[in-house]
Amino acid sequence: MLQVVPVKAFKDNYIWTLRNASHAAVVDPGEAQPVLDYLAREKLELAAILATHHHADHVGGIAELLQRHRVPVYGPRNEPIPTLTHPVGGGDKVSLAPLGVEFAVLDIPGHTRAHIAYYGAGSLFCGDTLFACGCGRLFEGTAEQMYASLDKLARLPDETKVYCGHEYTLANIGFAKAVEPGNAALRQREEKDRGLSEAGRPTLPSTIGEEKATNPFLRAREPAVVESVNKYLGSRVSDPVRVFAAIRDWKNKF
Ligand SMILES: [Zn+2]
Repeated sequence: MLQVVPVKAFKDNYIWTLRNASHAAVVDPGEAQPVLDYLAREKLELAAILATHHHADHVGGIAELLQRHRVPVYGPRNEPIPTLTHPVGGGDKVSLAPLGVEFAVLDIPGHTRAHIAYYGAGSLFCGDTLFACGCGRLFEGTAEQMYASLDKLARLPDETKVYCGHEYTLANIGFAKAVEPGNAALRQREEKDRGLSEAGRPTLPSTIGEEKATNPFLRAREPAVVESVNKYLGSRVSDPVRVFAAIRDWKNKF
């Protein structure tokens, strides 16, 4: 049976590790050593590496992993990742036979210019685009692109498990409460995730349904969010992309 296990890297990165009894694939190995330690401890053979975007804290460990394991490396076709063996883009499929799982590749630009996500087996690996109760910064893309990317992810089934690249949830919830103080689902989420965090457990995965109910970046059409953004801006906007852009700007300064 396929399991998804978080392997921690740096301060708050997760290297999501898909595994069965004999094989593993890793998503966004920013560092090699935590992966090598995990594979050795669990006696697993590495089957593949998947990258969502080119930032070093997501791909920095690939070269060292390849020195020990000759495996395919999937990642965005239009980003500078020299270690890729299988460049992919939206509409492509990634089939990991040793793990019996197939993913659809989704183009979700915004954080970087050609960021991708992997969707399959009821799970979404979305790197630094959608975070639990937040979203990535716009380093290489526009607000229009990021809004469209998040909208694409929000259309996946509510029960889809969301595996993002960082543990930012509690800080993100703090900001979300400033945007939407009256959101009861958000308060429930804070209680749940604070409990997980205090127990030393990841707050991830979340679900698309949970994100739609609590993540301000997916709620740019909600009247309460629009109202709050208008107060922040001191002017009236209602177009969802402009509301989204204002939330992103507000979060950057929060
Ligand atoms: Zn990034």
